[in-house]
Amino acid sequence: MAPSPPSPTTTTTTTINRTTSDGGTIILNKYQLTRLLGRGSFAKVYHGRSLTDNTSVAVKVIEKPSTADPTMEPRLVREVAAMRRLNHQNILKLHEVMATKTKIYLVMELADGGELFTQLIRRGRIKEPTARFYFQQLVSALHFCHQNGVAHRDLKPQNLLLDKHGNLKVSDFGLSALPESKKDGLLHTACGTPAFSAPEIVRGRGYDGAKADAWSCGVILFNLLAGYLPFDDSNLPNMYRKIHTREIVFPDWIMKQPRIIIRKLLDPRPETRMSIGSLMDLPWFKKSLKSDDPTVELYKENESNSMKCKTMNAFDIISMSSGLNLSGIFENFLDLQGS
Ligand code: ADP
Ligand code: MG
Repeated sequence: MAPSPPSPTTTTTTTINRTTSDGGTIILNKYQLTRLLGRGSFAKVYHGRSLTDNTSVAVKVIEKPSTADPTMEPRLVREVAAMRRLNHQNILKLHEVMATKTKIYLVMELADGGELFTQLIRRGRIKEPTARFYFQQLVSALHFCHQNGVAHRDLKPQNLLLDKHGNLKVSDFGLSALPESKKDGLLHTACGTPAFSAPEIVRGRGYDGAKADAWSCGVILFNLLAGYLPFDDSNLPNMYRKIHTREIVFPDWIMKQPRIIIRKLLDPRPETRMSIGSLMDLPWFKKSLKSDDPTVELYKENESNSMKCKTMNAFDIISMSSGLNLSGIFENFLDLQGS
């Protein structure tokens, strides 16, 4: 009898990971992991070196979803799906997805400049021209996300990274929402970080993800310029009262134009809140953008660069994975897609 072909879900465990003499770990014979770059709520991120072409990458290592944490799997699927469909110079690129029996590896573009948050702590606050530079890149990335039907929903300086040239890269799309997840055209999940989350998210009614991201942009711009948060009270009801009455106390050094923008972004009513699109038309926002600056191009409609609202399914995710079959971890997702 002819031997049966190997099952596509078979995992070979013999050559998966090994430790090198210098203490690094080689994963799947493809990347050497060295130092720890950061730690999030769900993952550890390591500096990695490709054994094929010696390039540097960042590898996010996630313990395989267990039944103990049912939020992990949808979070991972969202992160991969969102990053996969967004190709923009200020959004962290996902190169490939790999897995062993116990871990999932997201191989990403390396942002060697670390978190914008660290810069903020180091400098206390950031002067207006530099803050505007980061803000322009953040807003341009978000505009692109929204055009492609993705809302980030967890914007904060810890998720804004810098590359070695000091350019901003939006990361951590684990809480992002894809158009597929809208029920009545609105999103319904409460998520994010209280100090950065729009009031309508906290209220738990349906909300527009792009408007919620615009709110977070207002918090971030204030945070960069002031060095502290606009609404920060350990007493949450107090904090929400200040949010609803738009009780923002500006430090003297924040100038009139950015004040106006921050107030318009921190409008508690999403219907009247300034949109990302209107923000991009303001003279303050456009200032210092040189016409030969590649960022300028990003403000124009750039359809060719985008994978226009392509619906991502588990098969797309698996097709970009290498080494091992990931269908096991996406079982529920596959069921969902198939139904
Ligand atoms: P989590 O989803 O668990 O919150 P993150 O994706 O936010 O994980 O990553 C955790 C931390 O790891 C980040 O705050 C950052 O310090 C670091 N990090 C993540 N991705 C990269 C990267 N591509 N380059 C450099 N550092 C990174
Ligand atoms: Mg994070």
